[in-house]
Amino acid sequence: MNCIFCKIIDGQIPSYKVYEDENILAFLDISQLTRGHTLIVPKKHVKNIFDMDQNLASKVFESVPTIARALKKAFKPIGLNVVNNNQAPHQTVDHFHIHLIPRYEGDDFKMVFANHQDDLKEEDYLEVVKKIKENL
Ligand code: 5GP
Ligand code: ZN
Repeated sequence: MNCIFCKIIDGQIPSYKVYEDENILAFLDISQLTRGHTLIVPKKHVKNIFDMDQNLASKVFESVPTIARALKKAFKPIGLNVVNNNQAPHQTVDHFHIHLIPRYEGDDFKMVFANHQDDLKEEDYLEVVKKIKENL
């Protein structure tokens, strides 16, 4: 399979490995958005969150706090973002991955949480909940 992360897992492409167990690999993102920017991937190829079963998800996500705490101890960031892109517009590698991005005073990584609190009325929120529940 022509997947860059599968090749990293197989050792065909080198990487800066941070942590590995039978289910996951964590390695430095080649483009360090901030110091310590790390990717966690399942060893099993799944494209994105929509393709993951609960068992694999639990194995991948359970590693997040451990690696996050190591980044915190290692680099003393002011905070840390956990980011996972699925399909458009941001996913560029079609092998599921979680970004751990330590945050530092004055860094240039941007996440915009604009205030949309006044956009919806109660019936709009209820309609959104109904739609989600119908599809669970
Ligand atoms: P996405 O945009 O899909 O959420 O993130 C993919 C990430 O994979 C990008 O941040 C990119 O820098 C990283 N990446 C792409 N190719 C390689 C590679 O060959 N090695 C490593 N270590 N990271 C890569
Ligand atoms: Zn893959």
